[in-house]
This record gives sequence, C-alpha cells and structure tokens, in this order.
Amino acid sequence: MCLIAGFLTGFRNRLVVAAVLLVTSLCRVAGAAEPGEPPLSRQEQQVVDWLDQRESEMVELLETLTNINSGTLNKAGIDAITGIFSRELAGLGFSIGTLPGEVIEMPHCPGSNLSIDVADHLLATRAGSGTRVLLMGHMDTVFPPDSPFQEFSLDGGIMHGPGVFDMKGGLVVMLYALKALQEFELLEGRALTVLLNSDEEVGSLSSRKYLEEQARVNDYGLVFEGSVNNNQIRQRKGLGQARFVVHGRASHAGAAHQEGRSAIRELAYKIIEMEAMTDYESGLTVNVGLMSGGEARNTVAPCAEAYVDLRYPLPGQGIAARQQFESIASTLYSVPADSEEVTTDVWVNLHRPPKIPTPESDQLLYRTVAIGALLGEQIGIADSGGGTDGSLTQAAGLPTLDSLGLIGDGGHSPREQADVDSFVQVTGRAAILIHRLLEDR
Ligand SMILES: [Zn+2]
Repeated sequence: MCLIAGFLTGFRNRLVVAAVLLVTSLCRVAGAAEPGEPPLSRQEQQVVDWLDQRESEMVELLETLTNINSGTLNKAGIDAITGIFSRELAGLGFSIGTLPGEVIEMPHCPGSNLSIDVADHLLATRAGSGTRVLLMGHMDTVFPPDSPFQEFSLDGGIMHGPGVFDMKGGLVVMLYALKALQEFELLEGRALTVLLNSDEEVGSLSSRKYLEEQARVNDYGLVFEGSVNNNQIRQRKGLGQARFVVHGRASHAGAAHQEGRSAIRELAYKIIEMEAMTDYESGLTVNVGLMSGGEARNTVAPCAEAYVDLRYPLPGQGIAARQQFESIASTLYSVPADSEEVTTDVWVNLHRPPKIPTPESDQLLYRTVAIGALLGEQIGIADSGGGTDGSLTQAAGLPTLDSLGLIGDGGHSPREQADVDSFVQVTGRAAILIHRLLEDR
C-alpha cells in the first residue's frame, strides 16, 4: 500500500491526493518510490555533498546554543541567541529586524505574579520575486536558568541538552540549509523570511500577531520543530489555557471559622467541573496542571488559583470550552448563588488553533516525503496532540509543515536528546525542499 501511495503522490489532482491520504494514513510510512519529485539536479547534489562535510560544524554550533540558557523568562539568554542568528543571517544577505516583545499579564493571587516579560523576536528578510517561503523556529526553551539541566553533552552519536531537540537543533538545521543554498548562489533574487520567536513555550502569546501577519504574506511555511521517529505531523489538536483566580475571605480557622469564605473550597468545586469536561471520545481534554492557594493551615483561604490546559480537535470545541470555562467561573458552588463574598477572575486563551490539513498542506507534506525518499529517507506521517506555531500559520491560511528539525525525543524533560546522524540528513532535505519551493517547481 505504501508503494501505491508513493506512486499516486505525483499527481496534483485533489481527489487523488485525498485517496493518497487515505491509503498512506493506513500504512503510515511512505514508500521509497516517489516519482512526483524529479531526481536531484547536479546543483542540488552539490548542496547535499556540501552539507555532508558540515556535521561537526553543526554539532559545534548546537553546543554553543545549548550552553546559553534561554528559558522563556531569561531575556538576556534569548537576546544572546538572537545576536548569534542576527549575525549569521546578515552574513547570508538577510535584512535583520526586531519585533518587540511585551509583558503578558494574567490574573493571580497576591504574591504569585505570573506575568511573562517576553523578549524581542527576530525577523530576517531577503527580498526577491517568485514563491515566498517563511521559515520559523523558537529560541526559548522550557528550562529556566536555575534548572539542573543546562549543558550540552555528546554520547555515542546522541546529543543531550536543553533545546537540542526542542528546538535549537532545528534552528541549526534551518541556518545550515540556508548556508548551503547561499554557497551555490541559490538564494539570489528569492523571497525568504525567517521569524524566530522567543515565547513559543508559553504559547506564543506575544508573537502570535507577527506569525499571523507573516502567514498572510507568504506562500509556504516551514517550522523546524524536532521530529520523533522521523515522523512528519499532519494534523494537530488545538490548545487553550485558562487561569482561574478565586477570591474569598480570610478568617481565623478556630476563633471565627464561620466568618471565612474559603477560596480553596470554591476552587475545588470548579476544578471538578473543569476536569469533567474531558471527553476522550471527542478528543477534548482538560488538565488542571497547577493549583495553589491559601496562606496558612489555620487561616480560611482568601485566595486560590489554578492553571488549566485544554486540548481540542475541532475549532468549535475550543469556542464551546471557553464558554464553559467562563460559565464555571461565574457559577458559585460553595456559597449561595447570589453571594458577593466569593468572586472569580478568569482568563482564557485559545493560543493554538487545531492544525487541520488542507489539500495545499498535504501537497507540501507529500513533496517533503518524496524529497526525503530521493535522499534515501523513510519519513512517517502521524498526528499529534501537541501544538506548534505551524498551527497558527496554517489556521491563518499558510500551508505549513512543522516537524523539519532534528530527529530525537524527550523534549521538555532532562531526557531531551537528538541524533547526530540526523543533522546531515534533515538539513539536506530541508535545503532541497526550500530550493524547490523557491523555484516553484
Ligand atoms: Zn518547540
């Protein structure tokens, strides 16, 4: 079945593409024969050969980047990464610009300020004609400067470190694909934009508007997030986040218990209601991942808060879930419905729309699979419950592929790792893909 899928992929007819998707989603792994893409040209082979000699350089740059902490809140670290990519991209003929970050405020209990001071983002452009390609990646990681997981290490062909997989490795892949194309003058006169944001790991709350703006003026989007098992992700769930902050009234737990109004008690009811929204059948899940509250064992809690994760396959489910969160916030469970002694602040953000495949994004996906096959790769296709910035650009109308970084695993954990071997492989593939998109072939 995989061979049939590979053979049919060459046709541009939408119905055929749909049939191909049906077949390949059953077999998951594309076959080696992908006649839809012409064989490598002499120049393309030179690009691949040039990259073949650059593995140690790429590992070295990734080591440098990994050893600079760039947890989302570490502005100095992110600025240092921005500096490296600004210099590198300027050297490749890009004009370098800055997209201002901002402070994102959320409701919170006294003393638990969760505002996020987002660093500036990097926008690099090369003016040109023809197909416009947008390359994306994030510079931030989930590891703050006080995390024990800070350093790059190399162990028998496996790289470890914060960001080697998610996604400093991908940033190196993107950069070296561009370097290789520039080396053979294949970027001349071509329209390319690189957007590196600094807040992806908190949901791109500041950079979303820039990503959507770029989505509207480009023809293709490529995101260099890492890939598990060399799978390209075709479809993703939407993501939302909510903060609930309940205010009650403090009182002595012994001397005047009846005068207190426990924010923890009210929040506990709300948590049960939120968790009950999970419906595995429809794919919607709600996870109250963080909660805290109260001041002391013997004080009725005056404030309590929860931080909630939402996943949903269809856009309408996200909108309905937001309404449900707002309804849970405004309903009182622990005191009479007309009481004004307990109040709730709620903040809901559907920060990643679901990534729904389109004929155009499927064609981009299958071209990539075909180019991989030309280079001897077996690329799998899978769906994911996780979101990326590619979900934002795809929802804004830009056909986007989002797993073009290194092959690895263990993101967001001290087990994060990436394969050295995949460097040359995925960078060569990315270079050929970018080249062919720019040439509109
Ligand atoms: Zn990532």
